[in-house]
Amino acid sequence: MANNEESRGLKSLFDWFANRRKSGSTSLERQEREIADGLWHKCSKCGVLSYTKDLKANQMVCVECNHHNRVDSDERIRQLIDHNTWKPMDEHLRPTDPLEFRDRKLYSDRLRETQEKIGLIDAVNTGLGQINGLPIALGVMDFRFMGGSMGSVVGEKLTRMIEQATQRRYPVVIVCTSGGARMQEGMLSLMQMAKISAALQRHRDARLLYIPVLTNPTTGGVTASFAMLGDIILAEPKATIGFAGRRVIEQTLREKLPENFQTAEDLLQHGFVDDIVPRTQLKNTLTQLIALHQPVLTTPHLVLWETMSLTSTAAE
Ligand SMILES: [Zn+2]
Repeated sequence: MANNEESRGLKSLFDWFANRRKSGSTSLERQEREIADGLWHKCSKCGVLSYTKDLKANQMVCVECNHHNRVDSDERIRQLIDHNTWKPMDEHLRPTDPLEFRDRKLYSDRLRETQEKIGLIDAVNTGLGQINGLPIALGVMDFRFMGGSMGSVVGEKLTRMIEQATQRRYPVVIVCTSGGARMQEGMLSLMQMAKISAALQRHRDARLLYIPVLTNPTTGGVTASFAMLGDIILAEPKATIGFAGRRVIEQTLREKLPENFQTAEDLLQHGFVDDIVPRTQLKNTLTQLIALHQPVLTTPHLVLWETMSLTSTAAE
């Protein structure tokens, strides 16, 4: 009988566990392997290891330091939308490469590689669903897809979703995260800012509610258009929100910017953001805001009339 660990480990389950304990379950190598397997997650802020399942249960917010780890669009939809109510829209829309753009790589190659790697066709998911029983149109950007950059597909999908919401009289929520316009699509990417803004204006003209949620990071052309056009603008704690990067501004102004420059907290202080909402409270906050706006928009006339006469009686 060979005396090595492997053959001993195969003898029984008990031995296998004993073996596992002896080989040092906290060894750095094992830790790194388990992080790579996705079993554990290392907080990018405080470095504490959390079991991925526990972290997901806490909506990817670190229990140790409250750092809001990045979440992908699928996970975000799961967090916000009621189970079995999500109806995705325009999943067939694919980006093209009209300028045949090339930097270090061909844009068409970059697109294909990213699509294969993360299983998304472009940087936004849009659809209709319910949030605690209330219908909404939701768009969620995904930073993994070329830094959440806004190309023609992002613009078109968001525009169609907003138009659909206007037709159905639904509120719109867009969870933003983006490095800005997609430079590989040049002018076509920039014109999405105007297109989405125009759709939002029609939604607003119909007296409907729009809430952007700014997550880390929201920058460039997204900040310069739909991220800042909300009736109520929410942000996640410590999110970086800005237009040009910090370094560019420092070089232009030739002065040092304060530490908290372009953070959600700084923007709240200066009135650009209406509230900072921890992710674990986001669904309920959105529900409350949407519910508050419901009566005026969708309550049948009779109930609305009753509400009005109750108010006037109370005022007398
Ligand atoms: Zn942490």
